[in-house]
Amino acid sequence: MIYDLMAFELSKQIGARRVGKLHTKNGVINTPFFMPIATKGAVKNLSPEDLKKLGAEIVLGNTYHLWLRPGDELIARAGGLHQFMHWDRPILTDSGGYQVFSLGARAKEKYGTSGVKISEEGVSFTDPIDGKKYFMSPEKSIEIQLNLGSDMIMVLDECPPFPCSHEQARKSMELTLRWATRCYAYFQQRIKQESEKYDKEKVISHQSSVRNEGKSDDSLPMTDDSRIVTRPLLFGIVQGSIYEDLRKECTQRLIEIGFDGYAIGGVAVGEPREQLAEILTWVAPLLPADKPRYLMGLGRPEELVNAVQAGMDMFDCVIPTREGRHGRLFHWKRNLKSQIPNSLPTCLPDRQARQAGKFQKNSKFQILNSEESDNDIKKTNADIENVPCSMLHDSPEAFYETLNIANEKFKEDFTPIESGCQCETCQNFTRAYLHHLLKTSEPLYLKLASVHNLHFYLTLMKLLRNE
Ligand SMILES: [Zn+2]
Repeated sequence: MIYDLMAFELSKQIGARRVGKLHTKNGVINTPFFMPIATKGAVKNLSPEDLKKLGAEIVLGNTYHLWLRPGDELIARAGGLHQFMHWDRPILTDSGGYQVFSLGARAKEKYGTSGVKISEEGVSFTDPIDGKKYFMSPEKSIEIQLNLGSDMIMVLDECPPFPCSHEQARKSMELTLRWATRCYAYFQQRIKQESEKYDKEKVISHQSSVRNEGKSDDSLPMTDDSRIVTRPLLFGIVQGSIYEDLRKECTQRLIEIGFDGYAIGGVAVGEPREQLAEILTWVAPLLPADKPRYLMGLGRPEELVNAVQAGMDMFDCVIPTREGRHGRLFHWKRNLKSQIPNSLPTCLPDRQARQAGKFQKNSKFQILNSEESDNDIKKTNADIENVPCSMLHDSPEAFYETLNIANEKFKEDFTPIESGCQCETCQNFTRAYLHHLLKTSEPLYLKLASVHNLHFYLTLMKLLRNE
């Protein structure tokens, strides 16, 4: 087992909801948290200073994009991704697998050859931009993420398509587990080889001193704020499609390997989102209490609330920034904001709607979690409208609404997006001005919309932390 860093510190637990701190080699993050997405080493339209003003404690970088352009080795020579993009707080990187599977497939349309071929060794694909061929193995994914200098590294996994038979889902899960084992072994080997860089001894001696102070009972919350984390954290990813037995088995087998954190994959990219609540009830209770839990690629505000209430700690999604760019701005229903996080109704799967076929199966594979697909925004919005959920933003129970700033009714609305909002946009600009900027395609609109929507998401996470 990789030496245990005890990076996660649980401060309090209310039901299944967890509030705590996650220690990384680039600082501490308050949990639960939301990660703005810096696809290619930048959060679209925002500088690192903007992000800090918003209170973002971490961003997510995309391994696939940074590997292909400008290249992980170039970034390593620049001093790592933190230095390259001038961001000194934590960074989580995905494995690149998701983009390989989704974007690689686009190459087929452009170059006539099927982009993606999965084998035991890894996955080969064609870059849809220039037609070059690449090969991603589990080891390669870890190597790239180490070169980037990531604080949290994800194993390479296979996202099974949806729908997917039990047999297919098992086959895919077994491959994901074999890849997870290889990622773990390679990561461990690299950390050992570069022990000087990762300062293992310092960590171990620090840990034993903490233990010797009578904190050896892992079930007790740790209050030591000075714990030292000098190596990246490695996360395993739970797959298994919509099958309870597979999700549970995958979780248990990953825990046996012993990762620093655990992610739940698949729910945002292929599997019906209304099944999320069910998957969380299977997986979350099995996850170790002393390790961080990441729900990948989600989601809408009500989904975050429900997932936090189910015991998840970490989230990422393109929704606030991408929807903002297209005119959709989030705002609170004042009377309900104060009820977060304790008394909100739960967003339950709507089986009737699902059976009636209202949910568009597998229509979002490369849309919902990609900053690449701005052109697909109309389709995405249509998909979101179709999610059968008792707490959709336009329903009376919702704690927030969205407004479409492109609407003519805002042309002479000289109020902010949300009165009382502390973000830079609402403090200084009116709906009428934002409407004008969007209508005339002024780039400033993109920044102001991203600032407000991210502020909304980060405020939601604060409320879920009881801050
Ligand atoms: Zn605002």
